[in-house]
Amino acid sequence: MKPRLLVVYALCLLVPALSLGAGAWVLLRREAAQMEARAVETARQEALLVAERMALAVAEAEDALGDQFTPLRPPDREAALLDLERRNPLVRNTFVWSADQGLLWPPPEDTGSRERVRFRERFAALFAGELPWDGDHVLAPDLAEPADRSARLAPRALRAYAEAPAGAPVRAFTDSWMPWLHENRLHILGWAGDPTAEVWGVELEVMALLARLIEALPLQAAEGETWDLVDGAGRVLHRVGVDPEPEAAPQTSALISPRLPHWRIAWYRAPGIAPGSQGLMATGALVLALLLAVLGLGGALLLRLAWASQREALRKTTFVSNVSHELKTPLTTIRMYAEILEEGRIRDEARRRSYLETIGHESRRLARLVNNVLDFSRLEQGRKRYRPEPLDLAEAVREVVSRETPRLQAAGLRVEGLDGALPCPVRVDRDALEQILLNLLDNAVKYAGAGRRLEISLDQTGGRARLRVRDHGPGIPAAHRAKVFESFHRVDDTLTTRTPGSGLGLSIARRLARDLGGDLEFDAPPGGGARFTFTLPLEPGASA
Ligand code: ADP
Repeated sequence: MKPRLLVVYALCLLVPALSLGAGAWVLLRREAAQMEARAVETARQEALLVAERMALAVAEAEDALGDQFTPLRPPDREAALLDLERRNPLVRNTFVWSADQGLLWPPPEDTGSRERVRFRERFAALFAGELPWDGDHVLAPDLAEPADRSARLAPRALRAYAEAPAGAPVRAFTDSWMPWLHENRLHILGWAGDPTAEVWGVELEVMALLARLIEALPLQAAEGETWDLVDGAGRVLHRVGVDPEPEAAPQTSALISPRLPHWRIAWYRAPGIAPGSQGLMATGALVLALLLAVLGLGGALLLRLAWASQREALRKTTFVSNVSHELKTPLTTIRMYAEILEEGRIRDEARRRSYLETIGHESRRLARLVNNVLDFSRLEQGRKRYRPEPLDLAEAVREVVSRETPRLQAAGLRVEGLDGALPCPVRVDRDALEQILLNLLDNAVKYAGAGRRLEISLDQTGGRARLRVRDHGPGIPAAHRAKVFESFHRVDDTLTTRTPGSGLGLSIARRLARDLGGDLEFDAPPGGGARFTFTLPLEPGASA
């Protein structure tokens, strides 16, 4: 497969995977944002409800108090007011005010109580007549049309209006409430009467009212959430839940009542913990990551397979051309010498013998190659059969080596180390054993002829026979040491390139060795060259 095609495949896989991932991520984000918005909306509704409950609590407190002080009349009005002040925790102060004489109650001479003094100070402008008596339930005495007024009148005011004798000027015998800011704190004054004549009423104990308001807040907040009751100056009067971030702005808030100007319920939530959205994002992200990982892994695997099959195909093509070359060379030599001998032109006996030797040598080489190719295909198809027989490994190796000596010598190699080898009883397939050894000797001839010495040693270790073939040739570069045992792999140096070979010898030798219960390994011995170690289990009970 061409690299360009690989890139196209990779893109075909990556682009949809990434777009899918990005799309899913956007959808997840959108879903999470919607959940967040829904959570805020729910909190907003709840805040409105809480504010409404608080407004109701304020109205109830005012109504209950209004019912108590509105009907009061002289002469025992002041005593009743004092009683109210003492008994009702919602009442902070009481008062009677006359348009002509100013504050009548508490008596001006009552300066003993600090609270009374401060009460007078707080509302001084009102008691001095500098500011009008304000409120939403005022029933002025000279209103002409009841119908016009009813829209602005509280039920109690309407009752007073209805109860007044026909035609008589109606006096505002009803309560009215006004918020009053003094030194940045809220005070609430409730009054009844006629501002043009006489007015009496109470000052609310805001702290006691606050205790009632707090009851309307949720008992506890959800995880990461906060409910605050905030006054007009921004002070948090009560908090349910965790402390929000110092500069955090509430996600939603609701005003409570005009009687508590700017008082509000504020709701906060720590970022990113909308109920459900966190889990959704986490699950989504996990699924997405898994999907991308599976796609990525699948893609990588496919590319790897494509790459491997491309390499395999390339190796097979090289193998075919290498094998054809290896087959053709000995065949050409055999044919050429056979033809010369056939013609009978050579009279010299020594030359005839040398030609015959070459023919024999080349046909053996051909046989080895064909054996390798046949072995390879049998091993590949799992059809290779073995006939193990007891034999002396030292003897078998000596036999093969002595048979191959002329070839080794012709290549300039002198075999050393085998003479003193002790008997080594093993149980193996003789042909397979020979094939392994021949492949190792073949390589020594092909690649290590210049090294002169070929050391072959045999010993026993750990219940195994160990045969070592060590040459003094160029050795195998580190990067190729594991790969030379793969089928078709050849080192890409000049020596290998100009030496014919199929790249099958070592891979077949190792597979045979392993099939025989042994192994074949390579190591680079100190001093250079190549060393192949072939181990084989000893016959049970045998040892050196
Ligand atoms: P080939 O038919 O190419 O010899 P092998 O499987 O026998 O195939 O060997 C694989 C490769 O290992 C060879 O092509 C060669 O590059 C390298 N090789 C094998 N034996 C030796 C050796 N004794 N010295 C140097 N290189 C070797």
